[in-house]
Amino acid sequence: MVMKGKKGVVLGIANKKSIAYGIAKACEEQGAQMAITYLNERFQKKLEPIADDLSCEGRLYPCDVTKPEEIEELKKSLEKDFGKIDFIVHSIAFAPKEGLSGRFSDISKDAFSVAMDISVYSLIEVVQKLKPILSESASVLTLSYYGGVKYIPNYNLMGVAKAALEMTTKYLAEDLGRDGIRVNAISAGPIKTLAAAGIGDFGFMLKWNAAHSPLRKNVTIEEVGNSGMYLLSDLSSAVTGEVHYVDAGFNIMGMPAVDFDEDGKPAIAWNGEK
Ligand code: NAP
Repeated sequence: MVMKGKKGVVLGIANKKSIAYGIAKACEEQGAQMAITYLNERFQKKLEPIADDLSCEGRLYPCDVTKPEEIEELKKSLEKDFGKIDFIVHSIAFAPKEGLSGRFSDISKDAFSVAMDISVYSLIEVVQKLKPILSESASVLTLSYYGGVKYIPNYNLMGVAKAALEMTTKYLAEDLGRDGIRVNAISAGPIKTLAAAGIGDFGFMLKWNAAHSPLRKNVTIEEVGNSGMYLLSDLSSAVTGEVHYVDAGFNIMGMPAVDFDEDGKPAIAWNGEK
């Protein structure tokens, strides 16, 4: 039981397909106790059975990261429940639809600000506000994607946000390292979730990744969950400021390897079509 005695909070579970759910489940199975959050009342009812499934014992709190007072309230609730906490999972991102398809050069300042606020600044603010209740060896985890490092079609605005998020992870890691607190990111391969549904041509992205990854497959929330659990546990006690890829190896590829079918033709064309 790698997470026995660990207490924490998981932000970003929308449903059982969420990456945050995969991480929370892996932690719970390894003995962690946790609280989870929901965005607004509309999601509260949906999350109640998930909170039960994660043995939260009623620790289900509202937290819209655009509302600083809700993060303050979350801190008070966590302090009441646990005193100190050992981990935070930040699995939150949002960009207006106009930022996830079409011409990148058309993105408005409003869309840019919203995406950066919810997807990047929220990590800083959550850590800032929860810092007084973080234990001496606490671990913070956020979620990124390869589109923050290299161009990915339609990822557009979120790519810029993920680049900022990855650097935020590193600067936070340096800053909080002196307090014993670790901050890491997982760069996950594409997974069909609610948030992913907003990205133009997401189905093609999945197909392309499975075809061109060394492991020739897409990743699951269980696989990301297990890697996340490792980064939140003491098994990774000397790891901080990392962006850890859980992407079936996709990021190492400089050029797609070509698989041939039985007729000797490439099984997948350069554009991902079989
Ligand atoms: P998801 O299930 O839709 O989770 C996204 C979460 O962000 C939802 O719980 C959503 O809440 C929450 N959120 C949005 N705006 C918020 C706000 N203002 N305050 C609080 N929470 C807010 O999708 P997911 O794919 O698991 O995404 C989780 C993270 O993984 C994101 O950072 C995403 O960029 C990253 N990621 C995803 C993929 C992928 O392919 N799916 C790959 C790599 C990285 P509501 O649902 O209640 O709106």
